[in-house]
Amino acid sequence: MPHIAFIGLGSNLEDPRSQLQRAFAELGGLPETRLVARSSLYRSAPMGYLDQPEFVNAVAKIETTLTPRALLQGLLQIEHRHGRERTFRNAPRTLDMDILLYDDEQLHEHGLTVPHPQMHLRPFVLQPLLEIAPDAAIPGMGRAVMAFEKCRDKMLEALPDVA
Ligand code: AMP
Repeated sequence: MPHIAFIGLGSNLEDPRSQLQRAFAELGGLPETRLVARSSLYRSAPMGYLDQPEFVNAVAKIETTLTPRALLQGLLQIEHRHGRERTFRNAPRTLDMDILLYDDEQLHEHGLTVPHPQMHLRPFVLQPLLEIAPDAAIPGMGRAVMAFEKCRDKMLEALPDVA
């Protein structure tokens, strides 16, 4: 049986909208994986390290028979192809991809925590997630819509796709 996973994507360097659109296609190109849905692209202000360009964020829904660990490896390879360099925490990035949800599993393994431990605090994750999965639940945390009500400031602006 395929598993359902939600992937968070973000970029703030080198044409972020194109980075995300390419990444959607590459997600669907992972082995044993199908892209089921993708959110709009959303503009969001940087958090943490503020002196950097604004971000574009989105969420994808996939079906996969990859394990969470193999899926994470696939995401890291895609990031690498996009020229991602790891400099410092919250630094600008060409592409960041996180496993937000994997079925209703809760994992605490070395280098892999699912649900993603920050997702319930991040409007730029929750708004796109709710666009494509209005009934989403965060295992151990409750409904995503309740988390969004607590952390949202104003609604993020959706951007058009790049032609
Ligand atoms: P960052 O690129 O700053 O988001 O950090 C990526 C690292 O976080 C990866 O190398 C993973 O080992 C670790 N990590 C832990 N949980 C997750 C998750 N749910 N999704 C993606 N990366 C994760």
